[in-house]
Amino acid sequence: MRPIQMVDTKTQYHKIKAEVDKAVLDVLESTAFINGKPVHEFASALSAYLGIKHTIPCANGTDALQIALMAIGCEPGDEVITPSFTYIATTEVIALLRLKPVFVEVDPQTFCMDPVSLEKAITPKTKAIVPVHLYGQSAPMEAIMAIANNHNIYVIEDNAQAIGSEYTFSNGTVQKTGTIGHIGATSFYPSKNLGAFGDGGAIFTNDDDLAARMKMIANHGQSRQYYHDVVGCNSRLDTVQAAILNIKLKHLDEYAAARRAAADYYDKAFAGEQKITTPFRASYSKHVFHQYTILLEGVDREGLKKSLAEQGIPAMIYYPVPGHRQKMFSHTGEAFPDMPVTDWLTERVISLPVHTELDEEQLAFITGKIKAFIHS
Ligand SMILES: *Cc1c(COP(=O)(O)O)cnc(C)c1O
Repeated sequence: MRPIQMVDTKTQYHKIKAEVDKAVLDVLESTAFINGKPVHEFASALSAYLGIKHTIPCANGTDALQIALMAIGCEPGDEVITPSFTYIATTEVIALLRLKPVFVEVDPQTFCMDPVSLEKAITPKTKAIVPVHLYGQSAPMEAIMAIANNHNIYVIEDNAQAIGSEYTFSNGTVQKTGTIGHIGATSFYPSKNLGAFGDGGAIFTNDDDLAARMKMIANHGQSRQYYHDVVGCNSRLDTVQAAILNIKLKHLDEYAAARRAAADYYDKAFAGEQKITTPFRASYSKHVFHQYTILLEGVDREGLKKSLAEQGIPAMIYYPVPGHRQKMFSHTGEAFPDMPVTDWLTERVISLPVHTELDEEQLAFITGKIKAFIHS
């Protein structure tokens, strides 16, 4: 059996190695390391794939969120609503821009933003909502957009974990995640569903003005070279990464299918296990399983994790500390509201290996060992 990893980027690379190697060597030969042709080709290809007007490549997913927040014209102290139960990048950029993160609860089944909690958190200072399509499943975008439109608030989708995922509206319209709000942001970190061989990110929008602003912000606030209209930053996608992403984008749907097949295997293997809740698949969402995250009830989670590790099976807790309990906010004296659902989930989640290269032998081994531990 091949060794089991959380993500197997090497096996995936070897399947497209000849094409990738040639594309990288072509960039080296061109020496157009910054802003080369592949960057523009990739932006166009991704726009076409997502069905969006503008794609602005940038250096990473955290920058993508930051540039999006900079573009909507926030004033210090403005509030931005985001879930506590997520990766810290979303919250971090809010705080970094001297905006106030306002945490809301997630739904205990989907792990995504709870619209009831969201509605309650809105104040006259709310400037934006940043829902996260956590683990590869769309947040309930129809409800979120309705609330945002009612209150005239921007929606910036954190699509770092869900590129290729879709949301189906009640009228039957299907849209790719990241293209539903005013702005979408994503990451091409190597382990993400569309992973580069280094850092990368992108921002999407259908709004021409926002696109122009974000392009300018990502490029030192320049309208033309050496004329700086606004305070921006320096955030670019390397040409080498764009050349690789161009090739991998063609495989994205097939990669999602492979992740979903692994998730199906796990679901079947754990069916009937009282102590395991397998991921809920919302009817409105196409889940692309960036993570396969189960909930444990009455199981020693640390013991399971350790036992699996000893048998060559990695597993991860995403994430051990929710945003509202991070030390980074302890100096502010700010008391965040209680987040019972978030705390409940934080104690119970565990993410199992899920990627494009898992085979049945590996899946049988993983599920067998988990069941053995639970019944021991
Ligand atoms: C990975 C991730 C990010 C940040 O992306 P980077 O490219 O690592 O900066 C932001 N939000 C979520 C939900 C993520 O998973």
